[in-house]
Amino acid sequence: MTTLEIILTDITQLPIDGVVNAANNSLLGGMGVDGAIHRVGGTALTQACQALRHTHYPDGLATGAAVATCAGELPAKRVIHTVGPVYAKDPDPQARLADCYRNSLRCAQEEGLRSIAFPAISTGVYGFPKQQAANIAVATLLQALREGVALERVVLVAFSEEDAQILRHALNQAQHSI
Ligand code: ADP
Repeated sequence: MTTLEIILTDITQLPIDGVVNAANNSLLGGMGVDGAIHRVGGTALTQACQALRHTHYPDGLATGAAVATCAGELPAKRVIHTVGPVYAKDPDPQARLADCYRNSLRCAQEEGLRSIAFPAISTGVYGFPKQQAANIAVATLLQALREGVALERVVLVAFSEEDAQILRHALNQAQHSI
């Protein structure tokens, strides 16, 4: 059985097999959680992203897609980079956000990881309304877990108490509607 947990923490300090990065299409680092992951991951992580961009994604990684690299100095085995939708610009931000969660899980399984932690993708600079994003995250992950995934632990990371409450609300609602 796979557990779905909510943890209030800095995702760069969490010991876990896979850390999901809310990357941008360039894969070259940015603001928010992306910047924090690159800062702590260090040169090895940034160089891996540059190489991947060069060899596989010259036009950038598509919104909703996910790809793994080494984790550098992070207390993780791999970083899974996924590109969240820009809420105000994407034609279907809800579907693309669900893709981020689904494709990141798939990537973690392909990498043979046993645990994975997600930040609240798109809810910072990319402007996705937080409660709606939390509902999509929880619904998509629960659906995948029901279908069966080869992971022991899936963690939703909140970066503030307010964000933790939003995630807890989404999880309570989803569990009551089963
Ligand atoms: P996006 O560009 O996808 O909107 P942001 O990094 O701006 O990504 O924000 C996504 C979420 O990550 C926000 O809810 C923000 O509070 C959270 N966040 C920022 N830094 C960290 C961190 N170090 N650990 C966990 N979550 C973080």
